[in-house]
Amino acid sequence: MSARYAVIGNPIGHTKSPAIHTAFAQATGQDLTYTAIEGKRGGFAAEIDAFRAAGGMGVNITTPFKLDAFAYADRLKPVAQLAGAVNCLNFADGKAEGENFDGLGLTRDIVANLGVALRGKRILLLGAGGAARGVLLPFLHEQPEELVIVNRTLAKAIAISEQFASHGTIIATGYEALSGERAGQYDVVVNATSASLHHELPPVPASVFRSGALAYELLYGKGLTPFLRLAREAGVTRLADGVGMLVEQAAEAFAWWRGIRPETAGMINKMTVKLT
Ligand code: NDP
Repeated sequence: MSARYAVIGNPIGHTKSPAIHTAFAQATGQDLTYTAIEGKRGGFAAEIDAFRAAGGMGVNITTPFKLDAFAYADRLKPVAQLAGAVNCLNFADGKAEGENFDGLGLTRDIVANLGVALRGKRILLLGAGGAARGVLLPFLHEQPEELVIVNRTLAKAIAISEQFASHGTIIATGYEALSGERAGQYDVVVNATSASLHHELPPVPASVFRSGALAYELLYGKGLTPFLRLAREAGVTRLADGVGMLVEQAAEAFAWWRGIRPETAGMINKMTVKLT
């Protein structure tokens, strides 16, 4: 019988994960099925218990269940532990082990796919939600010169910077502090807010970008979002959305489950939409 995997979320109709993992399985010769589960709010644990009872070996987790998955896990990898969120569960040894590959996916996309080194760079991260929390530790591992997290609700950014303090320095600030002496300072600006989902722009000044900067929008497949438009109008020529992050985190999950890492470039190319 084929090994069973799935992604769980709500809503889940938009998910690209079954197509990505099915293509990975074909490319690597792995015998598996990968389906989408529309979970009921408040019903995460029961849904996962049933999936495991039916032979499920691992799941990816998307909105709004990453905290439920964190609570469900018997064991947590360090990135997931610090992020407080799990986007991948592995049931291989009978226990539920939780990991969060969002940050690794993002750093791989920036460094390996886009060819932008993070070491010694000045990084500005917009937002302090689940996705932002997941990318901080992988960013710190790249040893940037400075890592700043800015959030509309400043208290959340401050709490995160304190929580991560033993792993490296993260400067927490509000958007108003990005003008003045912080203008023109950032080599990599990542929009990890959900503002683009509502066609909104976080109140980031167009002056934050350093010459040659990369503007990275976590949301994918939506073309030129308000944030990417702001960057382009500010003269930024390196623009990216989160499609590479999505495919790279999927490849990490696949490798963790199956012990073989699929090639990602073809899938990223296939899923990329023009940023116009
Ligand atoms: P959360 O709901 O956990 O966090 C939302 C964050 O956005 C908060 O920091 C919130 O600030 C901020 N925010 C929302 N609206 C605005 C606004 N108008 N102005 C300024 N800040 C705003 O979301 P996630 O972290 O789960 O997701 C963030 C984004 O990342 C989404 O677009 C999601 O699609 C994308 N994503 C992409 C992935 C990929 O693989 N490419 C993977 C995971 C997420 P406050 O705290 O003040 O409310």
